[in-house]
Amino acid sequence: PRHDLSNELTALEGTSYGRYKSLRGKWWTGPAILDILKVQSDPFAPPSRVELRFDAETADLLPEWYATEERRRALAVLLAKRFRKACPTRDLRIDAGGQEILRRASCQVGEDGSVVFRLGAQFPGHGRRIAGRQAARLLCDDLPDAADDALAVGESEAGAWVRHADDVAALRKQVSDIGLVAFVADGAMLARRSGVDDRPLEKGVPFRSPDSLAVEVELPHAGRVRGMGIAPGVTLIVGGGFHGKSTLLRALESGVWDHVPGDGRDFVVADRGAVKVRAEDGRAVTGVDVHAFVDHLPSGDDTRHFSTENASGSTSQAAAIVESLEAGARVLLIDEDTAATNLMIRDARMQELVAKDREPLTPLVDVVRSMADEHGVAVVLVMGGSGDYMDVADRVVLMDAYVPEDVTERAKALAAKPTGRRVEAEGFRTPRPRVIDPRSVSSESRGKQKIRADDTDGLRFGESEIDVRAVEQITDHSMTAGIGYAIEAAVRQGWIDGEATVAEALDRLDAALDAEGQEVLLRVRDADFAVPRRFEVAAALNRMRELRVRDAPA
Ligand code: ADP
Ligand code: MG
Repeated sequence: PRHDLSNELTALEGTSYGRYKSLRGKWWTGPAILDILKVQSDPFAPPSRVELRFDAETADLLPEWYATEERRRALAVLLAKRFRKACPTRDLRIDAGGQEILRRASCQVGEDGSVVFRLGAQFPGHGRRIAGRQAARLLCDDLPDAADDALAVGESEAGAWVRHADDVAALRKQVSDIGLVAFVADGAMLARRSGVDDRPLEKGVPFRSPDSLAVEVELPHAGRVRGMGIAPGVTLIVGGGFHGKSTLLRALESGVWDHVPGDGRDFVVADRGAVKVRAEDGRAVTGVDVHAFVDHLPSGDDTRHFSTENASGSTSQAAAIVESLEAGARVLLIDEDTAATNLMIRDARMQELVAKDREPLTPLVDVVRSMADEHGVAVVLVMGGSGDYMDVADRVVLMDAYVPEDVTERAKALAAKPTGRRVEAEGFRTPRPRVIDPRSVSSESRGKQKIRADDTDGLRFGESEIDVRAVEQITDHSMTAGIGYAIEAAVRQGWIDGEATVAEALDRLDAALDAEGQEVLLRVRDADFAVPRRFEVAAALNRMRELRVRDAPA
């Protein structure tokens, strides 16, 4: 590393902005090493990219704080948040994220206790000239000061975060050992402040499990915690409008991620393989075997290889279910608010009026038992508007003024009285695996690499504009970017090689992320990202309009 960045910057005062580029590379700044990775071409371009690296001795964290993977992950999020808070200027931009604890590019704590911060820095200019003294303040004072403040974390704060990380890891393990697919602790606050503010509602009604569904776990620090356990099978959430059904389901969707202490969903966890599926008319579908749900289309299209540029609500939801299972989903989460009615239900009267041979759709209600019993896929669904699911539910939870009540027995008694409805399907069969043509997934755009996230709405991947608005478990802008880099890594590394099935390609991605973490995505692009799950990656791939697939050989 070079010395005297401050003098170099001061010497550049008033020279042409492009000369900032001469500063690329590593510098000693006090006890840390600053790496200027990328320099913006003009003062109005997106910020330059810098990395600040502390060895264990200078970072000076307590060894117990970085003793496990979960602790390091939580600590990194805490440090990024402390950095953001300590930062005196908008010219340094660290991606500190929201309520979830995710692996991000912005901060990493190493197994040896070293710490790296990666962030954007807006290099200052007077018009097209370098503001060198200001830049020296930014990079040689503000930046290391913010990092020092972040690292000066006290025992009580860091201790609380790492104990929380231990507890959540233990909770996930116990929930899975007991054989549950989700757990919602008593006292949890599931409601959020608003649709744009993900912090907990301040004066909401805390969650309380009905006795019949209550489970107790023993956590290393929090001790005994009681909550509602959701077992495999089919779980139906019912209740009047505005009574908190969707809020519960959204908490489960988010339960695949860990949350920061005090989030309200601290001890709300769902199986990491839980996937929210919904209707999304207008999306593209490529070669998906939806025939369990859609058959005998009037157009005569083959629904074992169903493709469309413009799916209907029902076919889009059928595709989303099949694609999620193909990617390895173990739990499906479905909300009536975002589901296609005709894919969910077809009641006795409608069966009378419209004969089965004139209805291409098989509603989920006729398939869901087979999914649960023969394929081990749990389903949690919110359905306040139709009683037909009582026939197939293993348990029914009634949300009453935000408090759940177990009404399984009453629902079973009701289901014993026939409605005249007939089951119209033989069962669900595992959809045919597909192989992605890697040439159809290319980030090349007019000769230039291009991957860009548009918040949680869209992902630009080369010439493709992928609409991900309906992929509801994407947490934030950085995760959208992470999906783009993960797809690029999968193509570059040959994980998508024209031979591997979708599941196999995702297995390879997961294996690399397990072994190397963020490095896998950093090799694609030194930029802000959060590491997505395989399901978000698959969801984006499946929404690519350019995607081409073929059947895996039998
Ligand atoms: P449903 O899906 O049953 O119609 P929602 O889950 O959409 O109901 O909730 C309706 C409203 O109640 C939302 O504004 C939500 O934020 C609020 N809410 C949900 N749970 C709670 C709670 N535990 N305490 C206070 N307000 C809540
Ligand atoms: Mg709702």
